[in-house]
Amino acid sequence: MRFSKLRLTGFKSFVDPTELLIHDGLTGVVGPNGCGKSNLLEALRWVMGENRPTAMRGGGMEDVIFAGASSRPARNFAEVCLTMDNSERLAPAGFNDSDQLDIVRRITRDVGSAYKANSKDVRARDVQMLFADASTGSQSPALVRQGQISELINAKPKARRRILEEAAGISGLYQRRHEAELKLKGAEQNLARVDDVIETLA
Ligand code: ATP
Repeated sequence: MRFSKLRLTGFKSFVDPTELLIHDGLTGVVGPNGCGKSNLLEALRWVMGENRPTAMRGGGMEDVIFAGASSRPARNFAEVCLTMDNSERLAPAGFNDSDQLDIVRRITRDVGSAYKANSKDVRARDVQMLFADASTGSQSPALVRQGQISELINAKPKARRRILEEAAGISGLYQRRHEAELKLKGAEQNLARVDDVIETLA
C-alpha cells in the first residue's frame, strides 16, 4: 500500500483543513522554523494509532487539538485522514474491499479518539495492527523524528533488535502474542476458581 494523501483539520498548527498529496517517489517538506514540518510527521504517527502524548510533544492527547492563537479561538476537535492506494489489494483482510483506503482518527475534547476505515467505525487496535502488519506503524523506524539518530546510536542491543524486527514486518506478532498471553492468564485464573468451587462442593 502506498500513502497518497494526508488531510489535517484542527491538528496542532493546521487549524484549517489542509491536504498534502504524496506522489510517487521522494516527498520533501521544506519550510522555515516552526511552520509545522514536525507536526506533519506527528499527524502520520497519530493517525496510525500513536497513544503516547510524549511522542506528540504534548502533556495529554488533547494537546494535538489546535489550541488557539491571538486571532483565532481554540478548536474542539482534531482530525487526520490518511489515504492509501490499495489498487493492488495489499491491505489486510477486513480493510481490503476497495481501491482506496481512508483511515480517519478524530479526537474531541472530553470525548477522546475515534477511528474510521472507509467511513466505518473501527477499533484503535485494528488500525494499529493494520499498520504494524504493513511494517509502518506509529513507532516505525521509517518515521525519524529530531534527535532520534543519536538515540539510535546510543541504543541498547534490545532496542536495536526491535528496529530490525519492525523492518522485518513481525512487530504485529508481538502484540498478538501479548494479547494471547493475557487471555491464557485469564483462562488459568478461571480454571483455578473452578477447582476451588469443585473442592468446596466435594
Ligand atoms: P523546526 O524546523 O523548528 O523543527 P517545524 O517546521 O518542524 O519547526 P513544528 O515543530 O512542526 O515546526 O511546529 C511548531 C508550531 O506548531 C509552533 O508554532 C507551535 O506553536 C505550533 N503548535 C503546536 N501544537 C499546537 C497546538 N495544539 N495548537 C496550535 N499550534 C500548535
